[in-house]
Amino acid sequence: MADAKTFFDLDQQKRIETAIAEAEKNTSGEIRVHIENNCTVDAVERAVKVFEQIKMHETKERNGVLVYLAVVDHKFAIVGDKGINDVVPNDFWDNIKTHMQSCFKEKEFTKGLCEGIIMAGNELKKHFPLQHDDKDELSNDVTFNHN
Ligand code: CA
Ligand code: CA
Repeated sequence: MADAKTFFDLDQQKRIETAIAEAEKNTSGEIRVHIENNCTVDAVERAVKVFEQIKMHETKERNGVLVYLAVVDHKFAIVGDKGINDVVPNDFWDNIKTHMQSCFKEKEFTKGLCEGIIMAGNELKKHFPLQHDDKDELSNDVTFNHN
């Protein structure tokens, strides 16, 4: 049975965190991945809640992005903060989600996440290029919930 904490082994978690660090070399946007077991509500709704819980709104430009995954219920979502939503079209994440979905269908979860993260970085840099005084405002560590 899938479990959030062990769904990705340590090596895979490292690959995800490396992809985040790589994506953040191009943009001031801050990307995080959060994994839990169950999601009984709409994935976007849940992702917005998690976004608040892990304080992802604490960026200067309000440009945090959360990739949310519920591994038992097979749901995922990508949500961006206000700074992003204000300047991008509603379908901003659609291509990335479609790509990730196709990887997930093949059980390529790490690949799907890593490639989705890199794609997100490339999109974000158009609106939020890297600043010379960039800080890693939000840790690149994958976070987990047990539910
Ligand atoms: Ca940063
Ligand atoms: Ca970061």
